[in-house]
Amino acid sequence: MKLKVENLDFSYAESSVIQDICLHVENGEFVGIIGPNGSGKSTVLKNIYRVLKPDGGAVLLDGENIFKMSSKKTAAVMGVVGQENTIPFDFKVEEIVAMGRSPHKKLFDADTKADREIVADALRETGMEEMAKKSYLQLSGGEKQRVIIARVLAQQTNLLLLDEPTNHLDIHYQLQMFDLIKGLGVTVLAAIHDLNIAALYCDRLYVLKEGRLWASGTPEEILTPSLMTEVYGIHADVIIHPVTNKVSITYLPKSLKERWT
Ligand code: ADP
Ligand code: MG
Repeated sequence: MKLKVENLDFSYAESSVIQDICLHVENGEFVGIIGPNGSGKSTVLKNIYRVLKPDGGAVLLDGENIFKMSSKKTAAVMGVVGQENTIPFDFKVEEIVAMGRSPHKKLFDADTKADREIVADALRETGMEEMAKKSYLQLSGGEKQRVIIARVLAQQTNLLLLDEPTNHLDIHYQLQMFDLIKGLGVTVLAAIHDLNIAALYCDRLYVLKEGRLWASGTPEEILTPSLMTEVYGIHADVIIHPVTNKVSITYLPKSLKERWT
């Protein structure tokens, strides 16, 4: 599934938040959105997954405008892990994961054996098997995040939109979740906080600053010391790591900055 965003504009009330955002994700590509806090990453993603309605521009899935598609159809093709995932009632973990199947079913369809297997696989892959019967509201932040990822896995969509999907997870689960998602081979657009993680998993990156597209390219093209100074106002040393062959960033505290420059 191919995603294309054309000239997207959005304002909350009077204040313009994102301007003229153009991006595309090719079929099977893993693309990251990076940028400082408040640069508009979540707003761009919410305009794509229809929580917000663009003031201008278009979002196309395989060439079709998403606002002309039914919400059920978009849910069947687009899986979302938002930045805040509030569940209004106290469901069990396995019930929330089973909700991932609903876009593929009619309203009162019972779960089939295949549905139950898909849910069990998603629970196992996210390490939530033993907590399947637990109440969602009693989980830690990281466990909740894994449940939401399990639900999106059970949804089995060709496109995933992820907003800092692992920000509550320890490094073990961060890598496990990104390995898992990468292994699906589906089209992914993800806002990613951690630049080293973005460098490890993303084919390409878009950089947002103050609601505008600042740069785009491969992690090697984008994650340069000068970009990190311009966009984040920090100093960093960047190497191509000999084992991963990917960009690896070391952030420099003020005390080392002088020695380095
Ligand atoms: P990011 O995800 O990159 O941290 P956001 O897209 O969440 O950034 O926010 C972009 C800008 O929009 C910020 O300045 C933020 O304060 C503002 N903003 C976000 N949500 C709202 C809202 N519901 N109402 C008004 N302003 C908002
Ligand atoms: Mg955000």
